[in-house]
Amino acid sequence: MAHDVVLIPGDGIGPEITQAMRRVVEATGVQINWNVQEAGAGVMDEFGTPLPQHVLDAVAETKVAIKGPITTPVGTGFRSVNVALRKHFDLYACVRPCLSQPGDGSRFRDVDLVIVRENTEDLYAGIEFDEGAAEVEELSQLVERSGQKTFAADSAISIKPISIAKSRRIVEYAFEYARRCGRKKVTAVHKANIMKATDGLFLRVAREVAANYPDIEFNDKIVDATCMGLVQNPNDFDVLVLPNLYGDIVSDLCAGLVGGLGMAPGSNIGADCAIFEATHGSAPDIAGQDIANPTAEILSAAMMLDHLGENDAANRIRAAVSTTLDEGEQVTGDVRRAQTGSVEGAVGTQAFADAVIA
Ligand code: NAD
Repeated sequence: MAHDVVLIPGDGIGPEITQAMRRVVEATGVQINWNVQEAGAGVMDEFGTPLPQHVLDAVAETKVAIKGPITTPVGTGFRSVNVALRKHFDLYACVRPCLSQPGDGSRFRDVDLVIVRENTEDLYAGIEFDEGAAEVEELSQLVERSGQKTFAADSAISIKPISIAKSRRIVEYAFEYARRCGRKKVTAVHKANIMKATDGLFLRVAREVAANYPDIEFNDKIVDATCMGLVQNPNDFDVLVLPNLYGDIVSDLCAGLVGGLGMAPGSNIGADCAIFEATHGSAPDIAGQDIANPTAEILSAAMMLDHLGENDAANRIRAAVSTTLDEGEQVTGDVRRAQTGSVEGAVGTQAFADAVIA
């Protein structure tokens, strides 16, 4: 049976790594009808938006998509297409496995943990007011009336909503994932000592949910202590469940434990739609040079194949990536530098894909 999948190449290194990924997937023999859709700054002139309706319609139809990264301008400009896609399809669970590979060049060994990041609320909700906006003055008065210390008049404000229902569904997802994948422990990560209302709610709900899973160990950890623990003893961790912003930051930290951003795959899962993508961004500093590492995108495709029920092909891709890295001869510059301190002898994006295919 052929699977219908929307492919959004994205920008920066997106087109290169998605091309490599597509070739690897096609080499497995699994039949995919790729529906290629463009989004991002490149379509603004034509459609007046970085995320045109026909792209949303295509994903709504296939319910499965894989994408390359899309650049989000810092400060002014349009809001993140990536965040908009997650919100539109309510892709509430961002799942990012971090697994050491032989030859990944990292000084950490045997890391095997999974980030489960809440993907729809928190400071990422995009409820923001610029410095000088009338709402800032109104909020200031509201805060004053509530008897709390108010803030400086020249502040900009970002609002951090954390709800019971969304905290519950992400923590339940983490525990169900742990059960399904034979994992032993879930750690809820928070800053409830300082943000007593929002993170306090997240922690309270996490503890309630944990009580329903006596077969899975549960603990909680403050986010700063988590960061130190991850770089000191990453093997103490198994599944981590985090609110959106901490999940974003800790994901990159964990990518660093397993060889860098070029190695870390991911997925955004909702009740009836899933979008797969690497953890990293569009890496404009190395775009268009055939030097980006496509491993993260290729491993994201393996996660997609699992989702499509093509577990054999997914396992073959993971084994081929692992063998290629282990052999150490045909690796991209990021990995070569981690292995030897120099990029000398590194191969390009497409040559790495060729080695995986071989
Ligand atoms: P980035 O992840 O693009 O790059 C950080 C560093 O890692 C850079 O030095 C880059 O060269 C390197 N790197 C990233 N991926 C690599 C790969 N596959 N192989 C080798 N090296 C790799 O982060 P950034 O520079 O902060 O962000 C660039 C843009 O990407 C921003 O506009 C950001 O908003 C966007 N972004 C998009 C997504 C997404 O589409 N889901 C995610 C994160 C960031």
